[in-house]
Amino acid sequence: MKTILLAAAAAVSFTAPASAATVVTADRMLDVATARYIDHPAIFIGDDGHIQSITNAATVQYPAGTKRIDLPGETLLPGLIDMHVHLTSLAEIGGYQGLKYTDNFWTAVGTANAKTTLNAGFTTVRNVGSSDFADVALMEAIDGGWIQGPRIVPATYAIGATGGHCDDTGLPPYYDKKADSVISGPADAREKVRWLHKYGAEVIKICATGGVFSLGDSVGAQQLSLEEMKAIADEAHMLGLRVAAHAHGDEGIHDAILAGIDTIEHASLASDASIQLAKQHGTWFDMDIYNDDYILATGTKNGTEQESIDKERMIGLKQRQTFQRAVRAGVRMLFGTDAGVYPHGDNGRQFAKMVQWGMTPIQAIRAATTSASEALGRSDVGAIEPGRWGDIIAVRGDPLANVAVLEHVDAVIKGGQLVKGPAAQ
Ligand SMILES: [Zn+2]
Repeated sequence: MKTILLAAAAAVSFTAPASAATVVTADRMLDVATARYIDHPAIFIGDDGHIQSITNAATVQYPAGTKRIDLPGETLLPGLIDMHVHLTSLAEIGGYQGLKYTDNFWTAVGTANAKTTLNAGFTTVRNVGSSDFADVALMEAIDGGWIQGPRIVPATYAIGATGGHCDDTGLPPYYDKKADSVISGPADAREKVRWLHKYGAEVIKICATGGVFSLGDSVGAQQLSLEEMKAIADEAHMLGLRVAAHAHGDEGIHDAILAGIDTIEHASLASDASIQLAKQHGTWFDMDIYNDDYILATGTKNGTEQESIDKERMIGLKQRQTFQRAVRAGVRMLFGTDAGVYPHGDNGRQFAKMVQWGMTPIQAIRAATTSASEALGRSDVGAIEPGRWGDIIAVRGDPLANVAVLEHVDAVIKGGQLVKGPAAQ
């Protein structure tokens, strides 16, 4: 065994393996932790899909039988993580248009959306809300190798209040239908967490306030009480699950943080006091600041109701300003885009927005890699290092100078398998 010091990473030494299933080489690799480039990496990935070691491609001896994925001219980064997607939703079908389709249609299109998302460089996603346990179905089909897609952390149904963002709204009383995830009171909330966990939820999603695409509610108004959110957070944490709270309005954000919720989704109207509270509690903000462009440009063309467009117009810019204040204040930030509200596969467009609104490129990249894995509580994704999954992407150009290069990913490797790139499509 030979230890090689890489040119740009004098502090880190790597060992070449005795045998390896696959080796990935490229011009350079971004070490996300240090924000430095490592030239000529050779990343060895074992048969089990996990990274074994990283050495210098210029001097390494390849063990016999090593499969090679050579990506000349490319810069490697860890597979990206989107903390807020809806694989079983389509931006192209908005408002009441969705009622024309049968229940399982959404799972069927979810298989295509999963592949599109993976091809865009996102090798892990947190799916924060889908009906009928469709995200669990996608996860099982992907993990079993029947279809291709990212690693999925499924929330299944999002827990909410009657008439709230996560209920089935917009229908007359004649069609009275309560979403399967509606709760009333702390005891009911605890039982719902147990039920979702029983059938595959790996994270709990709640709707703490109104939303843009729910009809008949106010986007800023709180919809779950502090007591209900506390019960959900306590129960989920007892089961080893984390909790994501959809929250636009400040009161809902404030109470969600106090309740012990782990990640605040949207966080659009957070006050400076709530930003400070998030800092104190170590609560993550997961702010979807790209999709405003898509929603306002598309308008009602895809069936989205005027009410939703009006709400977006009211909070879109404010959310970006809040993002800027939260970044400045030092809140822990994540990369989450609400894919499904805009077309799947465009997830990478949010990086440039995050830089435009106050982040450095490495901060935006960390939000989608090292920070995301920390917020998920997973040490198997989010970095190119021994022991983690061999999830790697390749881009042309310098993402630290122009983060928008992450919008065009040339190659995607998941668990050591090339799923997009020179020799695979
Ligand atoms: Zn969402």
